[in-house]
Amino acid sequence: MRYAILADIHSNLVAFQAVLANIEARGGFDEIWCLGDIVGYGPEPHACIELLRSYKHVCVAGNHDWAAIGKIDVSDFNPAAARACRWTAQQLTNQDIDYLQNLPEKLVLGDFTLVHGSPRHPIWEYLLSISEARDNFSYFDTSFCLAGHSHVPLVFGQDKVGNCIRGGIPNEIRLTSRDNRLIINPGGVGQPRDGDPMASYVIYDGDTQTIFHYRVSYNIASTQRKMIDCGLPSSLILRLNYGR
Ligand code: ZN
Repeated sequence: MRYAILADIHSNLVAFQAVLANIEARGGFDEIWCLGDIVGYGPEPHACIELLRSYKHVCVAGNHDWAAIGKIDVSDFNPAAARACRWTAQQLTNQDIDYLQNLPEKLVLGDFTLVHGSPRHPIWEYLLSISEARDNFSYFDTSFCLAGHSHVPLVFGQDKVGNCIRGGIPNEIRLTSRDNRLIINPGGVGQPRDGDPMASYVIYDGDTQTIFHYRVSYNIASTQRKMIDCGLPSSLILRLNYGR
């Protein structure tokens, strides 16, 4: 089985479609594991939910998914994110709202725990530093954790005596050795923030127990034109150029 692991699509349908086309060109996939934030920031929230739901998939809840339906408060959002969130809320169908409402905070699938933010605080916590990762290794029981939220492709490792390392995600990670537990962030599909504007995702090949990381260029200008038409904040439109 091959799993497409996608995080932070953020209503960016053009990026989402480019990623799916890229995976198809690499031999396709059997199932999507989505790490939350399907919506928020971008111009096509309903279409992104609909496209995700057209595939066999699982998905955990992101902060933007629940803020858009009023399940959590937007008071922690910056003004541009809050404005986009209010706009997003008006675009959702009743079925979209039901779907987002029922997303779980955490999923355990075989050797993997799936969360949006972190195992300790699945909705809100950003995992960027070694100290944050070190604390979080004790909040999940599986060998591996998949997390999104920071929009930065990263890997944290913990060896048997508890030493932790942090690194950029390599092109290929073999999971056959159980010497290290790992927390893997595939990077963001719809709003990358590591300085590279290309969409980021990983494939997990269950047969070879290997994770492959890919970047995909997409028509950023097309998404930006749609955002202008929707009256979304200019800061959110411009940041797509820089991946910041
Ligand atoms: Zn996000």
